[in-house]
Amino acid sequence: MCRHLAYLGPPTPVGELLTRGPYSLRTQSWAPREMRGGGTINADGFGVAWWHLPDAATPDGGPGVIWHGGASPDSRAAARATSAETASTTADLTVSRYRNAAPIWTDPAVGEVLPQLRSTAVLAAIRSATVGMPIERSACAPFTHGRWAFSHNGAIPDWRRVLTDVAAEFGSPPLLEAESLTDSAALWVILRGLLEGGGMEPGEAVRRVMAAVLARSPEARLNLLLGDGVGIWGSTWHHSLSVLAGDGFFVVASEPFDDDSRWRPVGDRQLVRVVGGRVSVEPLDIEIGRAGS
Ligand code: GLN
Repeated sequence: MCRHLAYLGPPTPVGELLTRGPYSLRTQSWAPREMRGGGTINADGFGVAWWHLPDAATPDGGPGVIWHGGASPDSRAAARATSAETASTTADLTVSRYRNAAPIWTDPAVGEVLPQLRSTAVLAAIRSATVGMPIERSACAPFTHGRWAFSHNGAIPDWRRVLTDVAAEFGSPPLLEAESLTDSAALWVILRGLLEGGGMEPGEAVRRVMAAVLARSPEARLNLLLGDGVGIWGSTWHHSLSVLAGDGFFVVASEPFDDDSRWRPVGDRQLVRVVGGRVSVEPLDIEIGRAGS
């Protein structure tokens, strides 16, 4: 199965988040520690998304994003001080990404180019393609839309039929808009349809899509990771996830990239939110095999 991570915190080199720690995402591509029977290596490509403000909005040439959440008291005070400012700027956040269908360890950009980009929010994934799905750049997460970025670790049995039905239930954008003929790319079209317009709380959108899929495909593995540059939403449904609430920064990752004692494993069937400088974890209230929940 794929591995993914999301970061929120002070400006950090984007590439460094791919290689940080003895069990970095790059190392996990050939030596993951927690695959739970879902594969052996993650060598079918990778991708990374990072957030920034448009150039015109960052006259000082800074990273273009105002970090306004954190675990430390200092950063909470900073959050209050800048809340009015962030309210007017975070709506303008845009997401950029870099992807490659080759194994992450073969791409020199990871060490030579990506570390020169800095951001306060990053979402990255390495891929182990599900049997029968194409190996191509457009199949590599993160999938993006507007200010959103998304990764799916798992697989949806009978995905063409299941996701066609789910899309009909939600009145989703056409599934032909999926970047690639994979379960994950089609799932993203459905999820982003619920997020568009900002009408639904992102965690609730994740839960609803999961419930609709699991109602039709009870064996589906749905470990979703979603970010918008200021928040992270992640689900566990069959695979591992851990959260690191550090000193003013947060990481949500399939597995810890180092031995920091602050990593906390997330149980199965949970929804993690990192919003407003706080982490919350709640059980996913989903009954398997019931359509329309
Ligand atoms: N099913 C997805 C794909 O093939 C994700 C695979 C995975 O999590 N290993 O891209």
